[in-house]
Amino acid sequence: MSCLRQAGAGITKQFYVLRMSSSVHIINSSSLSPDELEHVSRSVEAIIGARVHRSHLRVELERAFDSSRGQYNSSVLLAQLLSLKQSLPGKIIALVDVDLYVPVLTFVYGEAQLEGAAAIVSTHRLHNSFYGVDENRPLLIERVEKEIVHELGHTFGLFHCHQFECVMRSSTYVEEIDFKKATMCKECEGVLYRKVRGS
Ligand SMILES: [Zn+2]
Ligand SMILES: [Zn+2]
Repeated sequence: MSCLRQAGAGITKQFYVLRMSSSVHIINSSSLSPDELEHVSRSVEAIIGARVHRSHLRVELERAFDSSRGQYNSSVLLAQLLSLKQSLPGKIIALVDVDLYVPVLTFVYGEAQLEGAAAIVSTHRLHNSFYGVDENRPLLIERVEKEIVHELGHTFGLFHCHQFECVMRSSTYVEEIDFKKATMCKECEGVLYRKVRGS
Protein backbone atom coordinates (compact mmCIF):
# COMPACT_ATOMS: atom_id res chain seq x y z
CA MET A 1 0.00 0.00 0.00
CA SER A 2 1.43 3.34 -0.90
CA CYS A 3 0.84 6.27 1.37
CA LEU A 4 -0.93 8.98 -0.53
CA ARG A 5 1.55 11.57 -1.58
CA GLN A 6 3.88 10.25 0.92
CA ALA A 7 2.96 8.27 0.36
CA GLY A 8 4.99 2.63 22.79
CA ALA A 9 3.89 4.08 25.20
CA GLY A 10 1.11 2.15 26.91
CA ILE A 11 2.24 -1.24 25.64
CA THR A 12 1.47 -3.94 28.16
CA LYS A 13 4.31 -6.21 29.16
CA GLN A 14 2.59 -9.25 27.67
CA PHE A 15 2.01 -7.41 24.37
CA TYR A 16 5.60 -6.22 24.27
CA VAL A 17 7.10 -9.65 24.88
CA LEU A 18 4.75 -11.24 22.35
CA ARG A 19 5.72 -8.84 19.59
CA MET A 20 9.40 -9.03 20.36
CA SER A 21 9.32 -12.41 18.63
CA SER A 22 8.94 -10.46 15.35
CA SER A 23 12.01 -9.12 13.58
CA VAL A 24 12.57 -5.99 11.55
CA HIS A 25 15.67 -5.51 9.41
CA ILE A 26 16.62 -1.95 8.46
CA ILE A 27 18.68 -1.51 5.32
CA ASN A 28 20.26 1.92 5.46
CA SER A 29 21.00 3.43 2.07
CA SER A 30 20.65 6.95 3.42
CA SER A 31 23.07 9.51 4.84
CA LEU A 32 22.00 8.80 8.43
CA SER A 33 25.06 8.18 10.60
CA PRO A 34 25.49 4.91 12.52
CA ASP A 35 24.58 6.75 15.74
CA GLU A 36 21.46 8.26 14.21
CA LEU A 37 20.42 4.89 12.83
CA GLU A 38 20.98 3.29 16.23
CA HIS A 39 18.76 5.95 17.83
CA VAL A 40 16.04 5.41 15.21
CA SER A 41 16.27 1.62 15.57
CA ARG A 42 15.81 1.74 19.35
CA SER A 43 12.85 4.13 19.09
CA VAL A 44 11.12 2.01 16.45
CA GLU A 45 11.79 -1.11 18.51
CA ALA A 46 10.15 0.46 21.56
CA ILE A 47 7.07 1.57 19.62
CA ILE A 48 6.50 -1.43 17.35
CA GLY A 49 7.75 -3.96 19.89
CA ALA A 50 9.63 -6.02 17.29
CA ARG A 51 13.36 -6.54 17.42
CA VAL A 52 15.09 -4.14 15.04
CA HIS A 53 18.31 -5.30 13.37
CA ARG A 54 20.53 -3.20 11.17
CA SER A 55 21.43 -4.97 7.94
CA HIS A 56 24.64 -4.35 6.04
CA LEU A 57 22.94 -5.00 2.72
CA ARG A 58 22.39 -2.09 0.33
CA VAL A 59 19.62 -1.17 -2.06
CA GLU A 60 20.46 -1.08 -5.77
CA LEU A 61 18.85 2.24 -6.57
CA GLU A 62 19.89 2.49 -10.22
CA ARG A 63 17.43 -0.18 -11.30
CA ALA A 64 14.52 1.95 -10.06
CA PHE A 65 15.58 5.29 -11.58
CA ASP A 66 13.20 6.94 -14.05
CA SER A 67 15.18 9.48 -16.04
CA SER A 68 12.04 11.21 -17.38
CA ARG A 69 10.89 11.99 -13.80
CA GLY A 70 14.27 12.23 -12.13
CA GLN A 71 12.81 10.04 -9.38
CA TYR A 72 12.98 6.43 -8.21
CA ASN A 73 10.09 3.96 -8.52
CA SER A 74 9.41 2.77 -4.97
CA SER A 75 7.49 -0.32 -6.12
CA VAL A 76 10.54 -1.52 -8.06
CA LEU A 77 12.61 -1.11 -4.89
CA LEU A 78 10.00 -2.98 -2.82
CA ALA A 79 10.26 -5.92 -5.23
CA GLN A 80 14.03 -5.84 -4.78
CA LEU A 81 13.61 -5.97 -0.98
CA LEU A 82 11.25 -8.95 -1.25
CA SER A 83 13.97 -10.88 -3.07
CA LEU A 84 16.00 -10.64 0.17
CA LYS A 85 13.36 -12.43 2.25
CA GLN A 86 15.37 -15.65 2.45
CA SER A 87 18.35 -13.99 4.07
CA LEU A 88 16.35 -11.50 6.16
CA PRO A 89 13.36 -13.25 7.78
CA GLY A 90 10.70 -10.95 9.20
CA LYS A 91 10.04 -7.41 7.99
CA ILE A 92 12.54 -5.57 5.77
CA ILE A 93 12.51 -1.78 5.60
CA ALA A 94 14.90 0.30 3.51
CA LEU A 95 15.80 3.90 4.24
CA VAL A 96 16.94 5.92 1.22
CA ASP A 97 17.70 9.56 0.43
CA VAL A 98 16.38 9.58 -3.14
CA ASP A 99 12.97 10.97 -4.12
CA LEU A 100 10.44 8.14 -4.48
CA TYR A 101 7.31 7.90 -6.62
CA VAL A 102 4.60 5.50 -7.66
CA PRO A 103 3.23 6.04 -11.18
CA VAL A 104 -0.11 7.62 -10.15
CA LEU A 105 1.36 10.02 -7.59
CA THR A 106 3.76 12.96 -7.74
CA PHE A 107 5.84 11.51 -4.94
CA VAL A 108 5.64 9.23 -1.91
CA TYR A 109 7.31 9.56 1.49
CA GLY A 110 7.31 5.79 1.59
CA GLU A 111 5.56 2.65 0.51
CA ALA A 112 4.78 -0.67 2.14
CA GLN A 113 3.41 -4.03 1.22
CA LEU A 114 0.16 -4.33 3.18
CA GLU A 115 0.51 -7.25 5.58
CA GLY A 116 3.67 -8.20 3.72
CA ALA A 117 7.38 -8.25 4.33
CA ALA A 118 8.76 -5.11 2.70
CA ALA A 119 8.61 -1.35 3.14
CA ILE A 120 10.67 1.67 2.13
CA VAL A 121 11.01 5.23 3.44
CA SER A 122 12.68 8.22 1.81
CA THR A 123 14.35 11.04 3.74
CA HIS A 124 14.26 13.24 0.62
CA ARG A 125 11.22 15.34 1.55
CA LEU A 126 11.78 15.02 5.30
CA HIS A 127 14.72 17.47 5.28
CA ASN A 128 13.86 21.07 6.14
CA SER A 129 16.30 22.09 3.41
CA PHE A 130 13.94 20.58 0.80
CA TYR A 131 11.49 23.36 1.73
CA GLY A 132 14.12 26.11 1.84
CA VAL A 133 14.24 26.15 5.65
CA ASP A 134 17.34 25.74 7.85
CA GLU A 135 18.26 22.10 8.38
CA ASN A 136 17.16 20.64 11.74
CA ARG A 137 18.73 17.25 12.36
CA PRO A 138 16.69 16.24 15.46
CA LEU A 139 13.48 17.09 13.57
CA LEU A 140 14.65 15.05 10.57
CA ILE A 141 15.31 12.03 12.82
CA GLU A 142 11.86 12.43 14.41
CA ARG A 143 10.24 12.45 10.96
CA VAL A 144 12.23 9.39 9.88
CA GLU A 145 11.08 7.51 13.01
CA LYS A 146 7.44 8.36 12.34
CA GLU A 147 7.62 7.31 8.71
CA ILE A 148 9.35 4.04 9.54
CA VAL A 149 6.76 3.20 12.21
CA HIS A 150 3.97 4.17 9.77
CA GLU A 151 5.24 1.96 6.94
CA LEU A 152 5.98 -0.94 9.28
CA GLY A 153 2.42 -0.57 10.58
CA HIS A 154 1.20 -1.31 7.05
CA THR A 155 3.39 -4.42 6.87
CA PHE A 156 1.68 -5.60 10.06
CA GLY A 157 -1.69 -5.12 8.32
CA LEU A 158 -2.71 -1.67 9.56
CA PHE A 159 -4.64 0.69 7.29
CA HIS A 160 -4.64 4.49 7.49
CA CYS A 161 -6.20 5.92 10.64
CA HIS A 162 -8.33 9.04 11.04
CA GLN A 163 -7.12 9.88 14.54
CA PHE A 164 -5.23 13.16 14.19
CA GLU A 165 -2.25 12.23 16.33
CA CYS A 166 -1.96 8.56 15.34
CA VAL A 167 1.20 7.65 13.45
CA MET A 168 -0.97 5.64 11.03
CA ARG A 169 -2.69 8.79 9.79
CA SER A 170 -1.88 9.51 6.14
CA SER A 171 0.30 12.59 5.57
CA THR A 172 0.26 14.67 2.43
CA TYR A 173 2.42 17.50 3.78
CA VAL A 174 5.43 17.38 6.02
CA GLU A 175 3.60 19.57 8.54
CA GLU A 176 1.12 16.71 8.97
CA ILE A 177 3.98 14.37 9.81
CA ASP A 178 5.12 16.87 12.43
CA PHE A 179 1.62 17.11 13.87
CA LYS A 180 1.16 13.41 14.50
CA LYS A 181 2.95 11.39 17.17
CA ALA A 182 5.39 8.55 16.56
CA THR A 183 3.03 6.19 18.41
CA MET A 184 -0.25 4.50 17.50
CA CYS A 185 -3.68 5.28 18.87
CA LYS A 186 -5.35 2.63 21.05
CA GLU A 187 -7.40 1.24 18.14
CA CYS A 188 -4.35 0.75 15.92
CA GLU A 189 -2.43 -0.76 18.83
CA GLY A 190 -5.30 -3.20 19.30
CA VAL A 191 -5.32 -4.20 15.62
CA LEU A 192 -1.55 -4.65 15.68
CA TYR A 193 -1.88 -6.89 18.74
CA ARG A 194 -4.54 -9.07 17.11
CA LYS A 195 -2.57 -9.34 13.84
CA VAL A 196 0.58 -10.44 15.60
CA ARG A 197 -1.25 -12.81 17.93
CA GLY A 198 -2.96 -14.44 14.96
CA SER A 199 0.25 -14.96 13.05
ZN1 LIG B 1 0.45 4.97 4.76
ZN1 LIG C 1 -4.73 4.93 14.79
